[in-house]
Amino acid sequence: MAPAAIAGTLVVALFLAFLVVMVLEAMGDKANEIDDTRAMSAAQTALTSVRRRLSGTLEDNAVWREAFIALQSQNRKEWMWTNWGSISADYQLYDGVAVTDPEGRLIASYFKGTEFDAVAAFGDTFVRQARAAAEPDKPPITNVFKIHESVAIVGSRALQPDRNMPPGGRYNVVTMFKLLTPAMVDSVASDYFLPDLHLAVTRPPGELSLPLTSIDGDTLAYLAWPGRNLGTRLYDEVRPALTGALVALGILLATAVFAGYAELQSLRRLALAADREATRDPLSGLLNRKGMIRALQAHLGNARESAGLTLHLIDLDGFKAVNDTWGHLVGDELIGAVAARLVTCHPRLEFAARFGGDEFALASRPGTDPAEVAEAVLLALKQPFHVAGHTTEVGASVGYATHAPEMDTFELIRRADMALYGAKEAGRGQCIAFTPEMDRDREVVAELEEQLRETLDRGELSVAFQPVVSSENGAVAGVEALARWSPPQGPVSPDVFIPLAEKSGLIFQLGQIVLERSISFAKARPGIDIAVNVSPTQLCSPDFADSVAATLAAEAFDPRRLILEVTEGVLFDSPLQARRAIDALRAMGIRFALDDFGTGYASIGTLNHFTFDRLKLDRSLVQGLDSERGRALLNATVSLAEALGIPVIVEGVETPEQAGHLRQLGCQFMQGYYFGKPMSAEDFDSLPGRMARAG
Ligand code: C2E
Ligand code: CA
Ligand code: CA
Repeated sequence: MAPAAIAGTLVVALFLAFLVVMVLEAMGDKANEIDDTRAMSAAQTALTSVRRRLSGTLEDNAVWREAFIALQSQNRKEWMWTNWGSISADYQLYDGVAVTDPEGRLIASYFKGTEFDAVAAFGDTFVRQARAAAEPDKPPITNVFKIHESVAIVGSRALQPDRNMPPGGRYNVVTMFKLLTPAMVDSVASDYFLPDLHLAVTRPPGELSLPLTSIDGDTLAYLAWPGRNLGTRLYDEVRPALTGALVALGILLATAVFAGYAELQSLRRLALAADREATRDPLSGLLNRKGMIRALQAHLGNARESAGLTLHLIDLDGFKAVNDTWGHLVGDELIGAVAARLVTCHPRLEFAARFGGDEFALASRPGTDPAEVAEAVLLALKQPFHVAGHTTEVGASVGYATHAPEMDTFELIRRADMALYGAKEAGRGQCIAFTPEMDRDREVVAELEEQLRETLDRGELSVAFQPVVSSENGAVAGVEALARWSPPQGPVSPDVFIPLAEKSGLIFQLGQIVLERSISFAKARPGIDIAVNVSPTQLCSPDFADSVAATLAAEAFDPRRLILEVTEGVLFDSPLQARRAIDALRAMGIRFALDDFGTGYASIGTLNHFTFDRLKLDRSLVQGLDSERGRALLNATVSLAEALGIPVIVEGVETPEQAGHLRQLGCQFMQGYYFGKPMSAEDFDSLPGRMARAG
């Protein structure tokens, strides 16, 4: 879970919990309100019903013929005492009765079984009410009075014989009192479900109340009762459960958040480890290519820091030989040792990386002299390594480029790579800085390659032939075919376009053209051998032998007249492939010459291993003839060839002196400007004394 998701969940959960509490509280309040309203209307109804009951009693006593008549008589007071006063002592329907004349003057009044002065007790209000009720068609007037620290409902009605009295007259008035006693209030409370209903003189705070108001508008007392607060009680009742649920929710959330956080942390650690793994080279412990790119991007992203950061690319020399000779375990250990030296070779390194088999990279900090770092690398790697009981030396080539503003990571790598390429081209142990010319050179090379491709596609490559003469009689024993290329801008040396063809794969097409031209040249000139150069790339190609065989068969050319010239490098670099091709072609009768012999490091072992029909002594050996040492070297080389029993062709013979010396040494064949430069077929045919140049 991402932190944002956790926070989001938390906020939503808290919000929901808050909502639940709010809703429950609102529900409680609403329930309180509804119950209060109900209670209030119940109280009102109760009061109304008390008034109505009194009105009913009043109607029964005021519309009463017997009473009407009795009140006209002399003994009216006795009648009143008997029928009303005595009863009022303990009667359910009223507690007191007063009778007044139409002007409100008291005739008699009783309260709880005794006479009492209603006018004195209730004063003017009572008189006004009685007078107001004197008209027979007026409905009972009910009112509220204070009496004996209590409250009474009071109703007044004109005393009349029956209900059909004509309006307009004035009559005596009967007024009845009903006390709101605690017992009565209790019975109302239970009838109307108003628990704890009671009378109060002042409004009791915190309770619900209904004012009891006289017709004059004075509030005399209150009917009060405590609100049931049903909602609050309900809420209080669910609160422990709710609190429990919220606490549980909280714990659950906290656990989830904690678990999520822990998982996040472990995921983060895993991701970090995976990232480390993905950006590290396990063998050397340095960054790998991806890690290097990332590190570079991080550094270059910060413009101030990056200005002047230099990337050094390092390619080991001779690492492959260590791997091949002693095996991968030793090779791996060597890589580790190299890495260890690289990271400590200079104090101002930013990071080190390894990518590919024996390619390394260092970044040196801005303000460091990159040439100094490159030299430090070469120096560090020059010291012998002691790995797995072996002592070995590896050199290196270093190419470097310095970051400039607005240059991206890949451009920096590309430039360092160009420089490394240049360093490797320049030979072992070189360190070279990138220069813009490299890009230009590269463009030129690319253009040249394109031109060569077009030339080959059109089959326009030409072949020159250089005679090889027999030392014995000076007769031309054969020719060496040499490729020539003259694009419109002028002839290009084979030393340029042959490597170019090898790198671009054009060498197969080129070799095929040269072979075909050579065969047709030789077919037209019987009696001479034709020597054709073969590049390592060609020799190592699995179908080289078949393709040569097919060409010979197609031209019906005698394989015994063909000599293929190979260089010794390929015998070291790819001995198996070289051997397979050489064996197959020799089995067909084709002969092989070891070219440039004496320049490299061909060991006697190698020479024993491969069978050659000719050794071609390099022209540098001939050029060395003017020195004692050179002569000794040449003698030794010729003796070696003699010992191996392989005929020698000496290349680069330019003077009659050289020719004479070589003949004396017993070299069988000679080739060089002295006998003839590489030339066209026509020139070859018009060669004067083609058979007689003996020097
Ligand atoms: P290489 O096989 O050693 O060819 C001999 C080189 O020595 C030729 O250079 C030739 O012109 C030069 N040469 C011959 N006699 C003399 C002399 O008396 N003095 C001097 N200074 N040089 C002499 P070139 O033609 O420039 O060829 C250079 C290299 O290009 C060849 O060296 C060969 O390795 C390669 N090459 C040429 N043609 C082909 C080809 O058709 N296929 C392949 N694979 N390589 C070729
Ligand atoms: Ca050659
Ligand atoms: Ca040669």
